[in-house]
Amino acid sequence: MAQKFRTLLDLCRRRGFLYQSAEIYGGLRGAYDYGPLGVELKKNILNSWWRRHVYYRDDVVGLDTSILTPHHVLKASGHVDEFTDLLVDCTLTKERFRPDKAPQITLDKDGHIPILAPNKETAQIWKSTIEEQLAPNIKLTVKGNCILLHTASIMNPDLKNGQVGEITFEMKDDNQSPFILKYHGYVEPNTNSPFLTDSRPFNLMFKTFLDPIDPIDRVIQTTLQQKESISSTIRATVDEVLKPSTVYLRPETAQGVFVNFEQVVRSMKMKPPFGIAQVGKSFRNEIRLEHGIFRTPEFEQLELEYFVPPSHSNSYFDYWRKERFRWWLEHACHPENFRQRDHTKDEMAHYASGCTDVEYLYPWGWGEVEGVANRGHYDLTQHIQNTGANFKISEESSSYVPHVIESSCGLNRAMLAYLCDAFHQIEDENDKGKPPRIVLKLDPRFAPIKCAVMPLTGKPEFNSLTQKVARSLRCKGWYTVVESQKLKIGKRYYRHDEIGTPWCITIDYQSLEDETVTIRDRDTCKQERLHWKEVQQVIADKLMKGEAEELLD
Ligand code: ATP
Repeated sequence: MAQKFRTLLDLCRRRGFLYQSAEIYGGLRGAYDYGPLGVELKKNILNSWWRRHVYYRDDVVGLDTSILTPHHVLKASGHVDEFTDLLVDCTLTKERFRPDKAPQITLDKDGHIPILAPNKETAQIWKSTIEEQLAPNIKLTVKGNCILLHTASIMNPDLKNGQVGEITFEMKDDNQSPFILKYHGYVEPNTNSPFLTDSRPFNLMFKTFLDPIDPIDRVIQTTLQQKESISSTIRATVDEVLKPSTVYLRPETAQGVFVNFEQVVRSMKMKPPFGIAQVGKSFRNEIRLEHGIFRTPEFEQLELEYFVPPSHSNSYFDYWRKERFRWWLEHACHPENFRQRDHTKDEMAHYASGCTDVEYLYPWGWGEVEGVANRGHYDLTQHIQNTGANFKISEESSSYVPHVIESSCGLNRAMLAYLCDAFHQIEDENDKGKPPRIVLKLDPRFAPIKCAVMPLTGKPEFNSLTQKVARSLRCKGWYTVVESQKLKIGKRYYRHDEIGTPWCITIDYQSLEDETVTIRDRDTCKQERLHWKEVQQVIADKLMKGEAEELLD
């Protein structure tokens, strides 16, 4: 499984889907750039979402709000005080991790704690750190890159987060009183190390400053004048000096929608039930960046905030859970690898009355790709209370603050899920020794390149028809490339299978006589001969298949 994922990532780099950001400078951790094919795939997923939620409906409009968000907005929404994850440091390995995602302790057959170092040298260094600083005089043995901590007892090894137990170690000298370590139900994920700090909340937002004068200079000036002050007052002064220019890179696109609620209602004459869709970048200073583009500090969200009268919120929550799941399945080769998971009460924000994640079975396990939540009137009420904004809807007999059903989907995670879903390796029946060839069976609507037009040779007599065919496809807005390299036609097909191009159109000698061409299907490898003027309609029909069937009924 891991090998397959590595092959997929290698393909993404090799064929221009994904690059490490600033690679020639050694890269930036967790930052990725989308290459020529990646940008198309991402755009096609986004367009499919936008078509479905905005163009195919008459109750949803779009919006594009600022990434830089004032302090007041995010204070009111609760993000400044509460948008935190818990953070723990390992005092042995110096790794930082989220305790809610960390595994429970592993014991060997003798009940000892094995700590796995990356190599023998590190194991020796860690041994000294444990003996000299972290747990002097406990009994331990080192075998290669594994350090075994001899454990006398563990109180409740199956602790849930939040509970506290104890690990008691055997001592080198039996007369010494035993060394005891607090155990919170988790260890450092990579090594099984139990040497951890207490957990502390860590705000995920990126803060920056909207100020023409370098705010750091201003802070230095101000704090220097207060040399005698103790450090906490310096910190308070620093915050005070920076406050007027503090802004945040938004951690979700949703708040921009809420603060514009009244403007949209007024300018577009909308009445609940109606929705506002927004697509754009969000930023989170994640504790742990993982699995390529699965968790990155900068990512894109496709968000829909759907406003409904309070009495309808449960039924619309149900409606959107089903509707969104349907969208995911429609584009999947393997629908069984997508599932919905309802949040338990303790996973949900205090104001939410329901939340269902859509999850995909990535090579490392199930991972969230989207959350659909019934957020009640919390967001709008918070902004009313802080600004006095008029977010109430007046109807004949009553007035109310609408409830919000939110669907929040990660575009980059969607791209990764659909790449994993589409990735197929096919063995050559006649040559089992050959590495399998790759076919990306992406939904044709998502495929970066829709058509490759291939003249059999590069001879000038093929030019005119090649260009006519390419133009007839390009004028429909389909990304079409002309492949006239010297490679054999079969090789050229395989190169396009690898990047998910659904159709290759070949112009051969017969084409020059009767203006027919062949169209080859990526998934069946079947070829069909037809007049070149028919190609456009055939592809249009294939692309429309399954798209918004309810509109066409
Ligand atoms: P997780 O539990 O994985 O951190 P979350 O519950 O914090 O995710 P939400 O706040 O519900 O995520 O955000 C909505 C969607 O935005 C997620 O379903 C995911 O697809 C996407 N998303 C959130 N954080 C990131 C990130 N750091 N990198 C990429 N996508 C993200």
